[in-house]
Amino acid sequence: MDDVSFLLNDLNDAQREAVTLPVDTHALVLAGAGSGKTRVLVHRIGWLVEALGVSPYNILAVTFTNKAASEMRGRAFDLIGGKAEGLTLGTFHGIAYRLLRQHWQEAGLPQNFQVIDSDDQKRLLKRLLRDLELDEQQWPMRQVQSFINGNKEEGLRAAHIDPQHNPFVETLLRVYRAYEQQCQQNGLVDFAELLLRAHELWLKNPRLLAHYQQRFQHILVDEFQDTNALQYAWLRVLAGGTGRLFVVGDDDQSIYGWRGARVEHVHRFSDDFADVRLIRLEQNYRSTATILKAANTLIAHNSGRMGKNLWTAGEQGAPIRIYRAFNELEEADFVVRQVERWLERGGSRDDVAVLYRSNAQSRVLEQALLRAGIPYRVYGGLRFYERAEIKDVLAYLRLLLNRDDDASFDRVINNPPRGIGARTLETLRAEALAQGVSLWQAAQRLLAAGRLAARAAGAVQGFLDLIDQLAADTADMPLDQQVMTVISRSGLQTHLEKDEHKSEQAQSKLENLDELINAAAQFRPGEDAADETPLQAFLNQAAFEAGEHQAAQWESCVQLMTLHAAKGLEFPLVIMTGLEEGLFPSQQSIDDPARLEEERRLAYVGITRAREELVMTWCEKRRWHGQERFPLPSRFLSELPPDCVEEIRPKASVRPAGALGGGFGAGGCKSGLQKVGAPPFSIGDRVLHGRFGEGIVIGLEGDGPQARVQVHFDEHGSKWLMLAVAKLEKL
Ligand code: ATP
Ligand code: MG
Repeated sequence: MDDVSFLLNDLNDAQREAVTLPVDTHALVLAGAGSGKTRVLVHRIGWLVEALGVSPYNILAVTFTNKAASEMRGRAFDLIGGKAEGLTLGTFHGIAYRLLRQHWQEAGLPQNFQVIDSDDQKRLLKRLLRDLELDEQQWPMRQVQSFINGNKEEGLRAAHIDPQHNPFVETLLRVYRAYEQQCQQNGLVDFAELLLRAHELWLKNPRLLAHYQQRFQHILVDEFQDTNALQYAWLRVLAGGTGRLFVVGDDDQSIYGWRGARVEHVHRFSDDFADVRLIRLEQNYRSTATILKAANTLIAHNSGRMGKNLWTAGEQGAPIRIYRAFNELEEADFVVRQVERWLERGGSRDDVAVLYRSNAQSRVLEQALLRAGIPYRVYGGLRFYERAEIKDVLAYLRLLLNRDDDASFDRVINNPPRGIGARTLETLRAEALAQGVSLWQAAQRLLAAGRLAARAAGAVQGFLDLIDQLAADTADMPLDQQVMTVISRSGLQTHLEKDEHKSEQAQSKLENLDELINAAAQFRPGEDAADETPLQAFLNQAAFEAGEHQAAQWESCVQLMTLHAAKGLEFPLVIMTGLEEGLFPSQQSIDDPARLEEERRLAYVGITRAREELVMTWCEKRRWHGQERFPLPSRFLSELPPDCVEEIRPKASVRPAGALGGGFGAGGCKSGLQKVGAPPFSIGDRVLHGRFGEGIVIGLEGDGPQARVQVHFDEHGSKWLMLAVAKLEKL
């Protein structure tokens, strides 16, 4: 045996035991966050190859996201060099895709099959609904989509489903069948299909299965707690011969229950496979003792855990700072100040992650970072103004201003669906091209000349009328009402609300729409926008923010992401925002104990991403779903051990009127409240400044000539001003 000590040197005893297990057992490494599960998995690969002489060709490693896969490949490369190239390593979907490419014939696919994403799938389904003469109002797209995908994820094809004379299911089945047929005919494969086909590939081709069972003697799986039924079945079949599974996971980090992931697999694993060696890792290497204690204390509020004890030899570290912001704008400013503080102390932007529960929260944060000139990247998602549902609304608004805006016309004429088919659109485009006019004008001409079929003509006329009517009705409204009216009367909102399954995706889109209304309510045109209407100025600003490029790949930048997307990652400084009842935990989870526990696991995931410092924020007031709310602080805050946290808030002498402080830590501020003798302003006052324009008072500090006031200006963000010199006028 070559010298393989390098594979074991930086491992503790339990980790070493896991890495060096004999080859003929299955293993389940069950351990809390930051205990080195992923490290153990990579070292196990190294051990198999370097110490036991296993060929990389015989190893399959599965992770959860593409980013995790590329990190794992990098780590494997560091350990075993070029041999890492021979490994089969990727996500479930990626691996299934490669298998199908190689065995397209056995899988019953054409050689040039194409993978379609969720949008492509939707378009195809729309067409089928029309062919089947099903009304999309009655059979909302999202419902159809989740019926098909949900069943596929359970391994069920249309032929496997018994509708039991339920006419509702019978109809959905008809669509499913037609969809299967269409995909087969055109060689299209959706995401769920990738896994289902790969699974069927095994079942239908015993020889091929035997080949892969023989080949993949060693199957390693990271984040095992989040595998869904089909993925688990796939692993079972593959390892059914002599293959050995080495899976690592943490039941406390199971956060994809809503997507069909089953934490029970962790429990079932020992029953389904003989000779499973269970290894627990208990030492955390990631976080400070304070952060770890907070995470442990929080998650102890869940029931039915497998239970584990995490400890660290690391430093105590700084307390977790909990910031109670006045509102979401001020929260974002605080986040910016935290980043700046980190940078001033020599940290790098890459070190910082800003996490949030809901995608819609990113808008205000993005805006504050943009304004402060701090490069950032929204990870695992689009920036606010690039999101499809936002672009849809903006396209309507643009059309109101300019009927000849072809791009906007094209985007929304049949969105939400109003029965205007591809053929009608083709006719419109051809006419516009031939006559050199806009699509809008082409539509008018074709209608006037009676050159559209009756059904199409009705639908197109309806659309033109809708836009004209909306323009007339909203002309005198304040901006936020304009936006709100367009969202509701365009049908976009209803379209998303109809999603009966209340899919997380549709919910998140609705939240984004509400957030757009908030953006409109908070919007103040800049000085150079004098000749524009507020709507014009707003649209220009949105275009500007969408066009602003994300930080380049190589550029160091702050990372913004949802808590879900942060799984498996780690950062020296983590800022978790929006810790409010109704947001995190989410409103839907509050009355459902199982979902509430999943939210708590999500909080556990968030906290345990932090290595050195953790900051958590919540707002006394938040515009959410288009309304001003005064949320209570998240219960997760009060579940943290008091000796691990430090509460901070704006240095205020006056509590904002109307703000419900909630039960959390009133009076626990350590930031030294300073009394000001009858300040001329109170927090929450609207003020006007000669240069910075209008703003809202968010902090007061000091006395007499030293007195300072902090104002969040609508356009210039927050600034501290000396009361004695700043000419502030109360509005
Ligand atoms: P998560 O549950 O969040 O996925 P994990 O259990 O996979 O976490 P890793 O990411 O493997 O944990 O490890 C957490 C951190 O601790 C990493 O920075 C890793 O390099 C470090 N680490 C793990 N084991 C050791 C060790 N024995 N000595 C020093 N550092 C270690
Ligand atoms: Mg990990």
